[in-house]
Amino acid sequence: MPFCPECTYEYKESVKTCPECKVDLIEKLPEVGTTEDYIELYMVSNRMEADVVISLLTEHGISVLVRDLRSFPVLPDFGRRARLRIAVIPEKVEEARKLLQEGREDGALTSQGRFL
Ligand SMILES: [Zn+2]
Repeated sequence: MPFCPECTYEYKESVKTCPECKVDLIEKLPEVGTTEDYIELYMVSNRMEADVVISLLTEHGISVLVRDLRSFPVLPDFGRRARLRIAVIPEKVEEARKLLQEGREDGALTSQGRFL
């Protein structure tokens, strides 16, 4: 069944454009539901720190999603700090929290990040 990419309304097969939004229908909506299930756990202010967090978690089999809170397009950073939020699936929140806590204690992570 075709969907409208604007209002996400589902139409009958014979319909080609959304009468509300005046746009062509698409066969499949982009899969956004899975990423919305992720829970934001930790925030860091630079990409390097985010990479450390990501590798720490993925090493333990936890898939990570990073949300960049800056508005796009990203302009050169004139003293404005990046705000990257690290998110994981709900089942892994506790494990991820523990790993990050340990990472902070043994110095793998700097103290600039913070738990959300
Ligand atoms: Zn529509």
